[in-house]
Amino acid sequence: MKLEEICDVCGQPLDEKNVSRCRLCGRKFHMKWSVDAQIQNCGQVWFDKASSGMAFACNICVGENPELSELTVDTE
Ligand SMILES: [Zn+2]
Ligand SMILES: [Zn+2]
Repeated sequence: MKLEEICDVCGQPLDEKNVSRCRLCGRKFHMKWSVDAQIQNCGQVWFDKASSGMAFACNICVGENPELSELTVDTE
């Protein structure tokens, strides 16, 4: 039996596919990977200048780091 993982942002259970890990705090959160997934994103994709690549941040970190919201990439 597998331990159920919980999203650290909204507290709802995570499935195996639609999950990502925050670059800043390491929390796992909901990130929608398939268009038909019935979940809400609990984080953002943003462009990390330091590594010149895409990174993920949970909504908690985006809220605590307002400069991140200017770097987020629109995934819709
Ligand atoms: Zn969530
Ligand atoms: Zn975070």
